Order: sequence, then structure tokens, then C-alpha cells
Amino acid sequence: MNCPHCDFSDSRMKLHRHLGEAHLDRVTTEHDVETGKMKYIVECPMCGLKYQHAVKPRYKDPRFLEEYKAEIALVAFDQLLYHLEDKHPQEAEIDAPNSKDQTSNPDDSL
Ligand SMILES: [Zn+2]
Ligand SMILES: [Zn+2]
Repeated sequence: MNCPHCDFSDSRMKLHRHLGEAHLDRVTTEHDVETGKMKYIVECPMCGLKYQHAVKPRYKDPRFLEEYKAEIALVAFDQLLYHLEDKHPQEAEIDAPNSKDQTSNPDDSL
């Protein structure tokens, strides 16, 4: 399928990895100092929809978001890929044979 941010095109799994490597800046994270809650925000470049999701703060460390940005971004991009598959299948040019390739990559988990 196609990367929504550039002309990269590959299987879903490789695109997921590509997003984490090349478009990390597309995922933003917020840390609410008052509540201590953290969340990530990822925007669909095709329709502008914003996904927000709480990040479970495993550590009460203010550096958490920096240190785990890559990991959080992969989770966020997974959501974006589901969205692209669901809402923008033609633009994303999803290949049917690889679309079942949804098991998470062992490298993605800590
Ligand atoms: Zn790209
Ligand atoms: Zn969209």
C-alpha cells in the first residue's frame, strides 16, 4: 500500500516500519502536567481526521514521551493504517494478498 506522506509503496508491514522511520514527526504526543495523562495524536493526511489516544504512562518520567516516541508512533501509525484501509482503500492501494498481514512485528514491542 502507499505511504500517505510520500511516494513510498510496499506491503503493510513494511509501510508501517517506513512510517515509523521516515515520518516520526507526524505523530505528536502531549503530556498534561496537571493530570499526568499522556496521549498521542496522529492526523490522517487525506481527510484531516485526528486520532487521539491515551498512552498508558508506565513510568512517571517526563522523558517517557521522548524515549518511547518511536514505540508510541508505531502504535499510532498502526491506527492510521487501519483508518486508511477502512476509509481510503483506493488511495492507499491496498494489496489484497498482504492485507491480512496484521500481526504486530516482534520488533515493535519492548
Ligand atoms: Zn513515506
Ligand atoms: Zn482519512
